[in-house]
Amino acid sequence: MTLDPQKLRIEGTYEQRQPGYFMQRVKVPGGVLSAEQALKVAEIAERFARGSLHLTSRGSIEFHWVEGRALPEIGRMLASVGLTSRGACGGAVRGIVCSTPFLEGYPSVQVLARKLHHHFTQNPHFEGLPKKFKICVDAGYRESRHLIQDVGLVLAETKDGEECYDVWAAGGLGREPHPAFLLEGSMPEGRIIPLIEAVVTVYRRHTPPGKRLKHLVREKGQDGFRALLQEELAGKEDLYLPDGFGKQLTPPPPEQGVRVEAGVFAGELAAARLVTLAEIAALHAGGFLVITCEQNVAFHLLSLADQGPAVAALAEAGFGGDAREERVTFRVCPGNHECKMGLAPTRDVARRVLEAMGPAGERKSWAIAGCHNSCSQPQLAEVGIVVSKLVKDENGERHPRFDLYRRSCADGLGIPARQELSLAELLAAAQELA
Ligand code: SF4
Repeated sequence: MTLDPQKLRIEGTYEQRQPGYFMQRVKVPGGVLSAEQALKVAEIAERFARGSLHLTSRGSIEFHWVEGRALPEIGRMLASVGLTSRGACGGAVRGIVCSTPFLEGYPSVQVLARKLHHHFTQNPHFEGLPKKFKICVDAGYRESRHLIQDVGLVLAETKDGEECYDVWAAGGLGREPHPAFLLEGSMPEGRIIPLIEAVVTVYRRHTPPGKRLKHLVREKGQDGFRALLQEELAGKEDLYLPDGFGKQLTPPPPEQGVRVEAGVFAGELAAARLVTLAEIAALHAGGFLVITCEQNVAFHLLSLADQGPAVAALAEAGFGGDAREERVTFRVCPGNHECKMGLAPTRDVARRVLEAMGPAGERKSWAIAGCHNSCSQPQLAEVGIVVSKLVKDENGERHPRFDLYRRSCADGLGIPARQELSLAELLAAAQELA
């Protein structure tokens, strides 16, 4: 079977760095995965991805080391548990993210995340876009993920029984990071889908191939962009997608439920360990687990009585939380371990940085990206690392250089504090961090 890499992208498939192998990404709306889905994912990893999977910093799943002939069967297995990879790569509305699973409003925002997922996935009006289109729905501003989305929704208030969201637009990272701007404050949920439809349509119509929405807004200005949106929205009605009954998948907020987390270094999870996590979800968390944007797995337990047994089961499965790799928040993209774009072995570098850092470093959030694409969102970490280039030594060997980002204000992105560090200089910087 001959596979066209360009056509595969819309199915969430990328060629891996190693010829003949593919990466298969899977959308997980809001990061919420049922125990049954987790078991199927573990089965796929075991059969087709060398027994392992990668949790991404957008709460999705990636299988690496997949052979082309396995792709149709993986698609079939995903569909059997209601999962899809459609639009997980390429010019489409990507997986809908919730980065605030520990905030009170999370049960509500994950419902909206699933509505948006169902509305925008595999709909030809929202595919074939100039580039990717990213949406998040968050329960508050704590994680600042709204700053880096094409559309970022943040739960603002409940008015007359309807949830209202602040709508942010045109953020993005990559070579030219740009924070989103506030498009409209406290918008009722019924107006959200027509608005996003209009944003996607304007984006498709006015943006050259290969460019993100931030490019269009830079060209037109915020006022020009708003004018285009108004034209598109003229005559459009609000669109309510009411629930016949509550479909909040995870248990309610903290006063009744309890949250525990399994730290997964670099999001690299063995299939056998995912099976154990699925069993814990089934026994103690109402049958669901949550993939967090920190590449960990969270559980919203049914009651306080579940906490002791769940924590004990996690410890028995090797998620005791004692190791630095589990304790320190450190997002890690696949880098040149698997990604074609990667300039350095990000997991190896992250391990070296973890070993080098002092107590002050342990208390900070970290992220490393293997190239300027910044998939692990280093500009949102307190300390971010981007592999910026390769330089040749006198023997012709190529070595990575690292830019170190520091983020000091919650409503902005991290900026480079030091650039083009060697690995030794990077490790020294991690050690010295105050
Ligand atoms: S940041 Fe670069 S190296 Fe890392 S996953 Fe993204 S494209 Fe690949």
